Amino acid sequence: MKLHEFQAKDIFRKSGTPVPDGQLVTASDQVSKATQVINGPPWVVKAQVHAGGRGKGGGVKVVQSTYDVVVATEAMLGKPLVTKQTGPDGVAVNQVLIEEGVEIDREFYLSMVVDRSMAMPTMIFSQAGGMEIEEVAAKTPDLILKEHVNPITGWLPSQAGNLIYKLDPPAPPEVRKSLMAVMANVYKVFLNNDCSLVEINPLVITKDGKVFAVDAKITIDDNALFRQKALLDLDDPREKDPLELQAEKYNLNYIRLDGNIGAMVNGAGLAMATMDVIKMAGAEPANFLDVGGGANEEMISKGFEIILQDRRVKAILINIFGGILRCDVLARGVLAAAKKKRIRVPLIVRLEGTNVEEGRKILQNSDLKFLVAKDLAEAAELVAKQVS
Ligand code: ADP
Ligand code: MG
Repeated sequence: MKLHEFQAKDIFRKSGTPVPDGQLVTASDQVSKATQVINGPPWVVKAQVHAGGRGKGGGVKVVQSTYDVVVATEAMLGKPLVTKQTGPDGVAVNQVLIEEGVEIDREFYLSMVVDRSMAMPTMIFSQAGGMEIEEVAAKTPDLILKEHVNPITGWLPSQAGNLIYKLDPPAPPEVRKSLMAVMANVYKVFLNNDCSLVEINPLVITKDGKVFAVDAKITIDDNALFRQKALLDLDDPREKDPLELQAEKYNLNYIRLDGNIGAMVNGAGLAMATMDVIKMAGAEPANFLDVGGGANEEMISKGFEIILQDRRVKAILINIFGGILRCDVLARGVLAAAKKKRIRVPLIVRLEGTNVEEGRKILQNSDLKFLVAKDLAEAAELVAKQVS
C-alpha cells in the first residue's frame, strides 16, 4: 500500500525527521488560508499522486506570490498529471500540498528497502540526490552507498558514520549529527510501520545548515496490514486502477499490463509461465490474473468480467490447470460472466485436470463461441494469431 507524500511526511514529522511545513488543499478556495499559516514566499505547490517524477512533469511548482500559488493549484487540481511513471494518460490530481520553500544547498538520496538476497533491511545513501536514483546507479554506481542492517543489533551509529564520512565535500559536524538522526529515524519508521520502502529524495541541507526531508515516499507491506490497522485509513483507492480495485474486492490477484491479450489463469506460477509463452508467441498480455487455487464460481465469473470490461483486450486466453479448482466450476463461472457481458473478442480455452471432461462438456453445450487448445504452447500461438 502506497502512501501520499503528505501522509509520509506526517509520519516523518511525528517520528522526529524534519520536513517542510505544509498544508493539504483539495480546492483552490482553501489556498489563501494555507498561505497564511505556511511560511513563504517561496511556496512550493505539489500534486499528491502515487507516482514519482512529478517535478519534471509539472507536478511541483516553486512560486513567489499567493496569487501564483492559486494559479499553480488550479492548474493541477482535477487535471491529469503525466510523469515518467504514469503512462501517457497520466493520473488525476485530487489533492495538492502547499509547502514552505526551503533554500537548498545540497541534495542527498536516502532510502531503506529489504535486500532479499541478504534478507536484511538496507539503507541506501547517495550524495547525488534530487535526480532519479536509477540514473545515478547506471552512470555513477560508486556514488551509491549501502549498509545492511542486522535485525538483532538494529541500525548502529557506526553505520551512519560509514555513509556520512564518505561525503565529498565533507559535511560540517552539525549537519553530520542531523543526518545521523534522520538515518536512525528512517530505520525506526521502516520497522514500526512494516514498510517495504521508505525513500527521501531529496534529503536536503539548507543554506543555513538545516536538514529536511523535502520529498517522502513510503510503501507499506500489504502482508503486514493486518497488524497496521491504524494505517489502513491512509489508503487512497482513487489512485488505483478501477479494474484492480474490483479484483481486490474479490480476492483476485490482478495486475494491469500494457498489452492486448486478456489472460485468466489459476496459480501464480502458471500465470507467469502463461505471460512468458504469450510473449514468446509474439503478443503482449493485457493483464496478469491469477484466480487462485480455491476460486469459486463467483470469483471466476468476476475475474472473467474484469477482463471483458477492459476495452484494450483483443483476445482472451483461459488457461486452467484444475486441481483444487475444478474445471466444471471454471466452466460455470465463465458462462455466468458471459451471460452478463457480451464477449466481443476471440476466446481460447485450455483446460486440464480435475473434472476436465465435465468442464469441456459444459462449455461445448453452451452457446459460447471459443477455440480449444490442446496445450499451453498451442493456446499462446492461437491467441497471438487473433491479434497479429
Ligand atoms: P518528485 O520526486 O516527484 O519530482 P520532489 O518532491 O522530489 O518531487 O520535488 C522535485 C524537486 O522540487 C526537488 O528535487 C526539489 O529540488 C524541489 N522541491 C520540492 N519541494 C521543495 C520545497 N519544499 N522547497 C524547496 N524545493 C523543493
Ligand atoms: Mg523526489
